[in-house]
Amino acid sequence: INLVISALENSSKMHILPITLSKNHYDVIIGSDILQQCGTLILPLLKQKKVFILADQTVADLHLDKLIHSLDLVHVNYEVILLPPGEKTKSFQYYEKVTQTLLEKGVERNSTILAFGGGVTGDLAGFSAATVLRGVPFIQIPTTLLSQVDSSVGGKTGINTSVGKNLLGAFYQPEAVLADTKILDTLPQRELQAGYAEIVKAGLINDPELFKWCEKNGKKIISKEHACLAKAIEMACQFKARVIQNDEYEQQSTGRNLLNLGHSLGHTLEAELGYDGRLLHGEAVALGCCLIFKLCTQMGICPEKDTQRVIHHFESVNLPVTIKRLPQPIRASNLLNHLKHDKKSQNNKITFILVNGIGKAFTSQDVSEKQLYNLLIEDGC
Ligand code: NAD
Ligand code: MG
Repeated sequence: INLVISALENSSKMHILPITLSKNHYDVIIGSDILQQCGTLILPLLKQKKVFILADQTVADLHLDKLIHSLDLVHVNYEVILLPPGEKTKSFQYYEKVTQTLLEKGVERNSTILAFGGGVTGDLAGFSAATVLRGVPFIQIPTTLLSQVDSSVGGKTGINTSVGKNLLGAFYQPEAVLADTKILDTLPQRELQAGYAEIVKAGLINDPELFKWCEKNGKKIISKEHACLAKAIEMACQFKARVIQNDEYEQQSTGRNLLNLGHSLGHTLEAELGYDGRLLHGEAVALGCCLIFKLCTQMGICPEKDTQRVIHHFESVNLPVTIKRLPQPIRASNLLNHLKHDKKSQNNKITFILVNGIGKAFTSQDVSEKQLYNLLIEDGC
């Protein structure tokens, strides 16, 4: 595979980021228009010339032809299973449908599943791959910025339940991740901005240089300049690779946990506004990060100027920075109730990711309900 890839790498602008974990090794391949080479790129990884494409319907309408053509070129057989777009698809119901269909269509241990869509598709396809026949190989072809920089790398797969999001799942690593920046040309602007929030978040956690780079290049990214996008994806994946290589199964307080900066509050806002597009995940994360910086400044542990920089940057790329400007009024008590149900609560205490400044995140269980309540009221609840 290395020979094939290096030949392709030389012939077009492609970047390869290797990820090495305890039991797996895989490459994240980043480039513009690499979908048309997908067949050639993945061929060396296939144990059988048969793949099952789980595709988001919207993505399939726009890009499936190209993917299929690339498979035809190298004589790989395929079946396509289409999934309706939207968070609701990450459910028991679709998990059952997908796994049942895979079995009916004759999936075998050596078949490979291709996830072709955003985080919803990747999470559902990954969990299906992890469990059908006790595990079949899968490859991620993420098509949203969020999934290219975040959900496709790291091996978290799963579905939502009526009790909460992402509560049923498995750690299951892909055989490869193919991130094509050209696919993002058709991504709605708001989705792009939301994905960008996770890149900024990476910088805020422990990569101040990345945040500085974002301050300089954020506008270019949200106007989809390909070279800039590729660079941003590469840096964000590099950051995520570093974190997961050190803490594959989220067992350390200073490891994967930190990736949840802005997420506890973000999730509660998402839960409150429903998952119907009023507040996208990345938008909730941007607002969640702003709230954490504001909280830490109020607590006297983070310089005001850092908080202002963070707010200013998110605002400059049209991401929400205050509860005041959400599409509907929010009650602080509702948010606090959601927080208590957050899966990250341990021994009845909620673990927060706090900051001592930009690039200085740490975990803490010492945030009182009163501090949170005051923060939320002050921010517009
Ligand atoms: P998504 O998969 O719902 O995609 C967003 C929308 O964009 C959908 O309507 C989809 O049809 C459309 N779309 C996708 N690609 C497109 C393209 N190229 N052109 C046009 N339209 C396109 O959302 P997402 O933001 O990618 O993922 C969110 C999900 O990811 C959530 O369920 C979240 O829990 C999960 N997630 C998982 C992890 C992880 O580690 N596994 C990390 C972060 C988020
Ligand atoms: Mg996230």
